[in-house]
Amino acid sequence: MYRTHNCGELTVSDIGKKVELAGWVFHKRDLGAMIFIDLRDRYGITQLVFEKSLYEQSKTDIGREYVISVSGNVVERSNKNFKIPTGEIEIIVDSYHILNPSLPPPFTLENETDGGEELRMKYRYLDIRRNIIKKNIELRHNLAREVRNYLSDNGFWEIETPCLIKSTPEGARDFVVPSRTNPGKFYALPQSPQTFKQLLMIAGCDRYFQIVRCFRDEDLRADRQPEFTQIDCEMSFVTQNDVINMFEGLIRDIFIKIKGFDTGKFQKFSYDEAMNCYGTDKPDLRFEMKLTEITEKVKGKNFKVFDDAEYIAGISAKNCASYSRKQIDELVDFVKKPQIGASGLIYIKYENINNFKSSIDKYFTKDELQNICDEINSTVGDLIFIMAGEKEKTQKALGELRLEMGNRLQLRNNNTFVPLWVTDFPLLEWNETDKRFYAKHHPFTSPQDISVLKNDPAKAKANAYDLVINGIEIGGGSIRIHDKNIQKQMFEILGFSEEEANKQFGFLINAFEYGAPPHGGIAFGFDRLCAILGGSESIRDYIAFPKNNAGRDLMIESPAEISQQQLDELGICIKSNFK
Ligand code: ASP
Repeated sequence: MYRTHNCGELTVSDIGKKVELAGWVFHKRDLGAMIFIDLRDRYGITQLVFEKSLYEQSKTDIGREYVISVSGNVVERSNKNFKIPTGEIEIIVDSYHILNPSLPPPFTLENETDGGEELRMKYRYLDIRRNIIKKNIELRHNLAREVRNYLSDNGFWEIETPCLIKSTPEGARDFVVPSRTNPGKFYALPQSPQTFKQLLMIAGCDRYFQIVRCFRDEDLRADRQPEFTQIDCEMSFVTQNDVINMFEGLIRDIFIKIKGFDTGKFQKFSYDEAMNCYGTDKPDLRFEMKLTEITEKVKGKNFKVFDDAEYIAGISAKNCASYSRKQIDELVDFVKKPQIGASGLIYIKYENINNFKSSIDKYFTKDELQNICDEINSTVGDLIFIMAGEKEKTQKALGELRLEMGNRLQLRNNNTFVPLWVTDFPLLEWNETDKRFYAKHHPFTSPQDISVLKNDPAKAKANAYDLVINGIEIGGGSIRIHDKNIQKQMFEILGFSEEEANKQFGFLINAFEYGAPPHGGIAFGFDRLCAILGGSESIRDYIAFPKNNAGRDLMIESPAEISQQQLDELGICIKSNFK
């Protein structure tokens, strides 16, 4: 037997017991006649004391991160540490074994480590020994367990779907896997189990879920992983409200169980409302600062920027009228960044009733400025920002400025969670370069009104919904098309010939011939949900073995070349000038 207890469980009630413990040597302190060691395992830290005959020996032959087992007596500590559960006791060691020595770790394993990200990723198994990362892995497990409990209690079955599937042209780029036994043919890794979960509904499974790995070969941005995990769900015989209610229950339950935080009932916004009020389809509702449209109120004053604009709107930042020239210039630079792309920013400092400093003094009288401030619901002391231009672009830019002001005013507190649903999304998105429509969600999402889809596809709305928390899209789903004719029409609008549609999705269209029930579902970003619950920006901290920003695993050094023999078996040759 290696241990009678773990390193996190002995307390004053165990004083006098003879125990055996095993773990890693975290800290070692030599006090002259005795050595103190903090022995660490997954459960905690216990202080060991090596004295008398063990002193000399343990001084030289035990090093940091050695794996040891000890036996000894539990005694009360004179110098108590009330911060940890075992802090009132220590073990007077009477014998020990070195189970395995260790090289000195390349970085310290404290929460505040001296190891940079690259080094920590190369030695991720050491990084995970750090309490802060270990806690994240534990949180991930707890979340998975809550999800499984809630969904199982509600009649969902966890069903696995294949990882080796077929490449389809919609969505992101697929990762492909060559098939040795089918020369020249390739599998693709699933971007999501979308069609399989729909087939499970046709198969009569009624309620499905899966905590499932998904793969998307997208250009990597900060905090995007080529493989990530979804909580993927599907239900039969449901309306949009049934799905929303079921999963609002799930998310609320998770926040209560894991954070002890009741979010209350979620607000609901249509896509148009979200864009109009917050300039984004994933609003952060931890603070107000809504956009107010003033297009019709401010035209006709010979101010070209306004007179030429399709849309003009403003936001009001509370108590910021004292902002300096420099602070305002910083914000002008912020909105002009290429990612935001605004051409300028107009401000009004509402210093007092009928007393303003603004960048449009030349064009507007004090009364007119007062009217604008009133329209935007600002009060004395506020700083008003106005943007003008093409509608959607201006809304988005103002939405970004709103978030930036939220950051500056510290209104985006990580201990508050405000979930909401966004509904009534556009069904399609027009792509100017390709001169065709793409499905905004995916091609299996049902339209709200089939006649609008036929007559004016750009205006068609979808039975689709997103779950947003604190400005981050956490999940999305839709009520699906279950009628083969509508599905065929949808493929047609998306520019597939009948032949192509059959080649790519014939299995689904065929299945629709055999009694497909009305169905709908949703998928949540599991990694992102972990990060939100853990109060972190980075999903990488919640993945045991993540990839870096270039999609590389620095520990196992992947991706990597394969041998000539493997290539030959697959009939693949790499182009000589291929980069
Ligand atoms: N499969 C979809 C996605 O990955 C989610 C859904 O519609 O259920 O975005």
